[in-house]
Amino acid sequence: MMTSDSNKKNTRNWRPQTLAVRGGLRRSEFGETSEAIFLNSGYVYDTPEVAEARFKGEDDGFIYSRYGNPTVATLEDRIALMEGAEMAWGTATGMAAVNTSLLALVKAGDHVISSRALFGSCRVIIQDILPRLGVETTLIDGTDLGQWEKAIRPETVCAFLESPSNPMLEVIDLQGVADIVHSVGARLIVDNAFASPALQHPMKFGADVVIYSATKHIDGQGRCLGGLILGDEEYCKDIIEPFMRHTGPSLSPFNAWVMLKGLETLELRVAQHCRNAIDIAREFSTHANVERLLYPELDSHPRHELAMKQMSKGGTLITFDVAGGKDGAFKFLHALQIIDISNNLGDAKSLVTHPATTTHARLSEEERVELGILPGTVRISVGLEDVIDIKEDIADALAAV
Ligand SMILES: *Cc1c(COP(=O)(O)O)cnc(C)c1O
Repeated sequence: MMTSDSNKKNTRNWRPQTLAVRGGLRRSEFGETSEAIFLNSGYVYDTPEVAEARFKGEDDGFIYSRYGNPTVATLEDRIALMEGAEMAWGTATGMAAVNTSLLALVKAGDHVISSRALFGSCRVIIQDILPRLGVETTLIDGTDLGQWEKAIRPETVCAFLESPSNPMLEVIDLQGVADIVHSVGARLIVDNAFASPALQHPMKFGADVVIYSATKHIDGQGRCLGGLILGDEEYCKDIIEPFMRHTGPSLSPFNAWVMLKGLETLELRVAQHCRNAIDIAREFSTHANVERLLYPELDSHPRHELAMKQMSKGGTLITFDVAGGKDGAFKFLHALQIIDISNNLGDAKSLVTHPATTTHARLSEEERVELGILPGTVRISVGLEDVIDIKEDIADALAAV
């Protein structure tokens, strides 16, 4: 039986890029170099006694891939080591991770606070699904610590936020929110999909739980869906494990393998995404047809200093308003030759989204304005093409507005 437990102790001291390549590695008796894909749903036991011991939890071998799988476990160990978390769970999608992190924790009568600047489906869980189950939720402006203080109650069990947020790249004071949330013994859950593990470690700023859509930067090449939940052992074992086992949002071993290979190059890819993004942000922040450009690494970002305290770079996304409202934005999208129209992000291919008519179309006009999403707003996920080509594409498309 292979296990990574024997070398786990020393791997804790490895630097992030070494962990990204080798963390959690389990080699089988064949000594394969690259991580093997264990594409199996079940496991066999040599004797009925072994099966009995495993079900009793006295033998920690695998039982069924809904409960655990060697390839998925390698990914879970690797990301936990990289994040400095005690444990991790892989899930089928980023939304399965968000949903499990919340539903496993709450019961009717509980209270949840969330920043209102959220990925569309996260907002549906907080605003529609939890209240249907008798959980009261309060949506606030996450950038205002006073609103967190006002919203917190003795029955608050957790707070949820994204920083930077989708699509307006709002940056929230993680330590400030963590301190408020911890004052009533609640947990802070941070969706870190936009920053990725390469740029920001929310646990350093007091977050208790970190969520990833691995679909984004961790795969980074548009192939597979996946999610991750990271936390301490108590949360992962006592709260998440029974929910994962019995409701089944498990990650496929094949997708886990794709994510493992993605982690190996994550830092390299994200560094280049960021170099391209800052170059583009600088070039177009003063363009005549760009009305407001948001990029956390530019001085002009409203929370630039906080962003650079929490993140090592400005990120892979840029949001700006094209002159001329929806008409201007649509002319811009029509004219792009390289950048594809897509709601995905964190991909090698540069992608552009018009949030008002796609990811945030569900919201009312008023709710969109509250978030700062205007008819001319576009969000660009900067890819890994030659930055000169991306800049020429944007310049040509802006000239067509
Ligand atoms: C994409 C995304 C999700 C959902 O992830 P899926 O893998 O698409 O289910 C959740 N939160 C954020 C911030 C995202 O960008």
